[in-house]
Parts: sequence; structure tokens; C-alpha cells
Amino acid sequence: MAKPVVLTGLRANSEFHLGNYLGGILPMIQLQKKFAGDYQLNMFVPDLHSFTTPVEHSKLYLQIIDNLKVYVAAGLDLDNEDTFIYRQSYVAGHSELAVILNNFAYFGELQRMTQFKEKSDQAKDTNITAGLFDYPVLMAADILLYGAKWIPVGEDQRQHIELTRDIALRMNNKFGEDLLHVPVEWEEQLKFAGRESGVRIRSLKTPEKKMSKSVDDPAGTILLSDNPEDAAKKVMSATTDSIGVIRYDMKNQAGISNLLQILALLIDAPLAEVIANWEGKTSYGDLKTAVASEVKVFLTDFQRKLANVEEPELMRKLEASEYLMRDVATQNLYKIQQAVGLRP
Ligand code: ATP
Ligand code: MG
Repeated sequence: MAKPVVLTGLRANSEFHLGNYLGGILPMIQLQKKFAGDYQLNMFVPDLHSFTTPVEHSKLYLQIIDNLKVYVAAGLDLDNEDTFIYRQSYVAGHSELAVILNNFAYFGELQRMTQFKEKSDQAKDTNITAGLFDYPVLMAADILLYGAKWIPVGEDQRQHIELTRDIALRMNNKFGEDLLHVPVEWEEQLKFAGRESGVRIRSLKTPEKKMSKSVDDPAGTILLSDNPEDAAKKVMSATTDSIGVIRYDMKNQAGISNLLQILALLIDAPLAEVIANWEGKTSYGDLKTAVASEVKVFLTDFQRKLANVEEPELMRKLEASEYLMRDVATQNLYKIQQAVGLRP
């Protein structure tokens, strides 16, 4: 029996922020530690997704390699033989499957995707591309191409996971239950990743919004490359509220709740425990100081590790993984091509 596949990808449109780390990278590192040997781990760079928001094309290639280094600095063990790192555009099957899946995804359901609505609002006076509209289908292809069961991603990707399930179930309904592995439901995904709730790190400046790579919000965003002292200052200046008592309440106290969530993830403690420690206290300054100090420790340690990542070793693993994944993808794609009538 093949091992169940855990898969995640982070776009390389720009540098990573703390939200990417806590919502997308950290769960994979933790799962690798917990389940090494029992699962296959695919941690890839969805480079073809880079163009859905403005990107500096001349810098993209190096950004992709830099982002892969971040996976290693964050603790991904490249020696683990069940772990694969690869660039989406180096495995042609992703694009081919996306073209097929496009015909089983509905215009109406893509139009309802919150990310599409938010990002097309952000685009303001620039044109909204078909690539932005269609990216959830490419994401479904990224997942279904490997029969991935587990996809530990941030809360913002929940709808896209659900769409992937819908497309897979629709195709299985038409072509037979065995065609595609359907990723498990969101609540199960959370349990698997050991999370009590979805992770959605907010902007420190505008906590109603998520921290994001493609929004210009330097005071609200902690980049993994930020000077640790500067990052601590951003935390100290985080927007809170005038209620004056600490509560975990994303609706009315988003800034404070965001800090509690960041703290819990950075110290690897259950959110409930951190809430219990802080709820009812009245000094927002103490909470900010605690978070700022953890952010500083984390960034200092992370940046030291990043400086020590061996690029030749990374490139060897990358190319070997891509070689293997092309094979896996071709085989899986063939089954789908057969089902839809493109192959005998
Ligand atoms: P963009 O805003 O341009 O879409 P992004 O910051 O959302 O960029 P992605 O590459 O789209 O980055 O997402 C990569 C991973 O990071 C996904 O698993 C996503 O769920 C997670 N992620 C992104 N933002 C956050 C956030 N604010 N909190 C938690 N997880 C996040
Ligand atoms: Mg995103």
C-alpha cells in the first residue's frame, strides 16, 4: 500500500510572512516529526500560481529558490526519504490536469470564492486575469494529481479545499469511485494537523484582515526576513481596542485575539491554555511584550538557520524529487486521461 500523502504548497510571489510560517510551513514540519515513515510528504512551490497577483518576473526564479530554503531553515528534514520538494512548473502534469478539471468546475462556484472576490477588489484599476479566477482549479489539480489526503493549510484556503473535494466527488460520480482520492473534510484536516481551529494570522495594523503576501502593509506584516528588533516593535505597536480586558474574541477584539493566537503557536502551547493564562488580565502591554519577545527569539533563531542552509544539497534533493514526481504524476494523470476518453 502506498503511504497516505500529506501535501502543501506556498506561492513564491514574494517573501514569506509569519502567517505563512504558522499557517502553512510549521504544520508540515510538525507532521514530518510526528509521522516520519508513515506518510509521504509533498512540500512544493506552486510557482505557476505566482502570477495571480502582481509579481516581479525578473526576480521570481531566485525567489522560488529562496522560499525553498525557508522550508529547510524552518526544520524540514531533506534526508527523510518520504519527503519530496518540487516546483510545480517542473512537473507538467499539474497544468495538464488543471485543463481537464476546468471542465468539471463551475463558473458559479469559482465566482463565489472569497479569495477571488478579495483579490479582485485589491486589483482595483488593473485587469482581473483569468489566472486569478481559475487558480483554485489549478490548486485542485496540485492536490488530486498525487491523491493527497491531508492538506495542512491556513484557514484562508478552506474554501479551496472544499472546492477540490467537490470537483473530485463530481468526477468520481461520473467516472467511478476509484478515479480520484478525495481529500478529507476540513474539520478532519484540522484534527490531523493537531489544531483546535483554523489558523488565520491577522495584520497587526488592521486585524480585521489577514496578514498577506500581496498587500502592501509593512507595519501589519512580520516578514521572516525582518530585523528581529523591528519585528518586536511592530508587535508593540499592534492595533488593539479600547475594551481594556483581554479576551479571545475575534469579532470584537481581533487584535488581542491575534496576539494570543500568535503566542500559542510560537510557544507550541494549546490555544486554550494560552487563553486561560491571559483572559481577564488588563495590561495589553504585558501581552504585547510577551509576544514581541517570542517573535524576536523565533526570528533570530530562524534567520541563523537560514544563513546555514546548504544550497547544493537543496538543489540535489529538489531535482531528485522532481524526477520522481514527474513519474508519479504521469501515471496518475494517465488514469484520468483514460477515464475522460483521451487515452485507450
Ligand atoms: P497572498 O495574500 O498573495 O495570497 P498568502 O500570504 O496568502 O499570499 P499563499 O502562498 O497564498 O500566501 O499561502 C501559502 C500558505 O500560507 C497557505 O497554507 C495559506 O493558508 C497560508 N497563509 C497565508 N496567509 C496566512 C495567514 N494570514 N494566516 C495563516 N496562514 C496563512
Ligand atoms: Mg493566499
